[in-house]
Amino acid sequence: MKYRIALFDLDDTLTESKQPVSDEMVTHFTNLLAVMPVAIVSGAKFEQQLNQFINHLPKDANFKNLYSFPQSAAQCLAFDGNSWVEQYTFAMTEVETTKIINALNSVLEETKILEGQPSYGERIENRGAQVTLSALGQEAPVDLKHAFDPDGAKRKDLKSRLDLLLPEYEVSIGGGTSIDITKKGINKTYSIKWLSEKLSVPISEMVYIGDALFAGGNDAVVIQTGIQTMETKGPKETMEIIDSLI
Ligand SMILES: [Mg+2]
Repeated sequence: MKYRIALFDLDDTLTESKQPVSDEMVTHFTNLLAVMPVAIVSGAKFEQQLNQFINHLPKDANFKNLYSFPQSAAQCLAFDGNSWVEQYTFAMTEVETTKIINALNSVLEETKILEGQPSYGERIENRGAQVTLSALGQEAPVDLKHAFDPDGAKRKDLKSRLDLLLPEYEVSIGGGTSIDITKKGINKTYSIKWLSEKLSVPISEMVYIGDALFAGGNDAVVIQTGIQTMETKGPKETMEIIDSLI
């Protein structure tokens, strides 16, 4: 085996965006879990990772090899044989999240980027260690999301304004229509450094698989750690990548 630890993005990598994992993917992923530590790193909350992915794995899967990094790695959970145990969290106080939410509302008002846009469910969600803007709402249909900001220009504008208002926080362009805000220095790179230390495996022997490793994509931030990366077009290609890792 060329790599000793594999990390995966979730949406459009292991599953379609916010959709439950396919049975076929479960089989491939379970095989990988049998042979090496594997991590899921995404902007979603832990509950969302559970519902969308982890709860679909077979009961006898090798859960001791599985690490969950929800909220852009602002949190980590691992399974101790009985239950999921939080390894760390960079939870924010209510004062912090209120400041972030106010900043989001003010840049949305300033830019009018969402004027006339429908909202499917909540637009701004406080996930505890991360505040997320989902421009068209949490439940927006996939085709509308794809059409909203295909080149990321709208969110780049929002990010540059938010960086000025929130210099002490990390503002990341997420998948689809989202912007994720965490404590400074907390983004997907944190999961790589943490796992490397925890399992005493050099980053050069780890691999990250994601659909948005291109410049400006929400996986591209991992490249600065020196980790080897593999880009996927979606779950189908990811299954082939998984087989190549075993
Ligand atoms: Mg993705």
